[in-house]
Amino acid sequence: MESKAYNLAHEKNPMITLRVIPGHFTTSNFHISHFLDVSSMKSNATVARNVAHELAMPYLASAQIDTIVCLERTEVIGAYLAEELKESGVTAIGGGDISIITPIANNIGSLSFQSSMVGLLSGRNVLLLTTSISSGRTLDSALDCLAYYRSNIVGISALFLVSSANPELRVNALFTSDDIPGYQFYSSRNCDMCRAGQSLDALISSEGFTKI
Ligand SMILES: [Zn+2]
Repeated sequence: MESKAYNLAHEKNPMITLRVIPGHFTTSNFHISHFLDVSSMKSNATVARNVAHELAMPYLASAQIDTIVCLERTEVIGAYLAEELKESGVTAIGGGDISIITPIANNIGSLSFQSSMVGLLSGRNVLLLTTSISSGRTLDSALDCLAYYRSNIVGISALFLVSSANPELRVNALFTSDDIPGYQFYSSRNCDMCRAGQSLDALISSEGFTKI
């Protein structure tokens, strides 16, 4: 599995690389042909700054972004993203600093925010930042939550997007499944790799993978 791994460089910024591991992976609901390791993008300060620089591009003409909501431990990127936007003249209401906040996830996967954070969401311009959008379920949960707080979604950014996910939503992604030859995404009951008798390699989550 790891012996077939390779690094995919971002087309505009080779400082940003996606670690691609081919195999047969499962989440709780889906089977996937590649594990995408984005950990260096989230935790290496230099790489995260480069990631934020690229993610900021679609928003540099925005009049106002009040809050960046960070899912799946993207706060480091979110902070650099706020800095990039500020340097380009994008600020929160009244010229203030952009806030970085994270939701609380319960054990059935729905999201909420601490009461002290609601003022940063209610009626505010919100940019949603996440690592990977595949089935779109987590994204849908986040959008439902932000709709409840009456946030105005000004953009959705991700490190990786499966091209078929949520086609009605415009997502600004650094990498997409089209960048990875042979990328396949199946419901767990309808998987071509299972039908071909290929055993599972690992269970994956937003935190990484566990070998089976
Ligand atoms: Zn399978």
